[in-house]
Amino acid sequence: MTNLIEARELRQYFPVGGFLSKKKVKAVDGVSLTIAPGETFGLVGESGCGKTTLGRTILRLYEPTSGSITYNGSDITKAPMLPYRRKMQIVFQDPYASLDPRMTVGEIVGEAIDIHKLASGKKDRADRIISILDKVGLNSEHANRYPHEFSGGQRQRIGIARALAVDPEFIVCDEPVSALDVSIQAQVVNMFERLQEENGLTYLFISHDLSIVKHISNRIGVMYLGKLVETGESGEITLRGVHPYTRSLISAIPIADPNKARKRERIILEGDVPSPLNPPSGCRFHPRCPYAAARCSEEEPALDETEKGHFVACHFPGRG
Ligand code: SF4
Repeated sequence: MTNLIEARELRQYFPVGGFLSKKKVKAVDGVSLTIAPGETFGLVGESGCGKTTLGRTILRLYEPTSGSITYNGSDITKAPMLPYRRKMQIVFQDPYASLDPRMTVGEIVGEAIDIHKLASGKKDRADRIISILDKVGLNSEHANRYPHEFSGGQRQRIGIARALAVDPEFIVCDEPVSALDVSIQAQVVNMFERLQEENGLTYLFISHDLSIVKHISNRIGVMYLGKLVETGESGEITLRGVHPYTRSLISAIPIADPNKARKRERIILEGDVPSPLNPPSGCRFHPRCPYAAARCSEEEPALDETEKGHFVACHFPGRG
């Protein structure tokens, strides 16, 4: 089966310090990943690790510095994007900031339909808007209201409706529940799952929270400072993740059983994520890694397959 998305050695460097400066923020630095049709690939890591930039680069909202992107077998790295814009959508973290406050919900959804000329007439357009609102748990009365009249969870539903309006195949879900109350998060995640089933969607689901990514993803990629450090099946990563960074994320997943929670050791990492302007030598995680040895600061570990479908970038995977 052809992968829907293939990114190869993708790099996204942003120049900083003015036109003549050679300094670059290496936000994404040589990431390769594939996403099969109908799959959810979860991308997890701390804020500033390059997840959002990677998602936007795959959509060509940023032009990649190097590397390639293939969509359904076609190389789109430099191709005109108009034919792909409808198929590849994004749902943003902050639904309020991404919705025009002067437009009604009907206008927001209708605009997406108009841009891609998807309606055959006024009635078809109106029917489509109502049908899309219905899919995300809103109704025809909501079409005449403005974004500020809705709760955070409902606003995110509007953002999802806008993405769905053009009948996409692939959606980058960029921290879509992070801004929502915990009580609403599960509802919205469940809705993403239902919409995927109903519409045959493929997701790149980005979150800093492994417990959310674990729930929705078929496979997971753990990102640290512009690089993937571990990828594999969701259960494999969350139960048998071997990269020390992955293990620290696993140790932060809440456990419902208080007895088990008491016995578990929480791995707290020292310090913050270093600057991608000047990443550490060798393994980028070495200044924060409890198992770092001399080799770690000298030699960059490759992302090697340690078990079938399980890839890890660490000289000493599974230590500790
Ligand atoms: Fe830690 Fe070394 Fe593995 Fe990097 S390569 S994660 S520093 S043990």
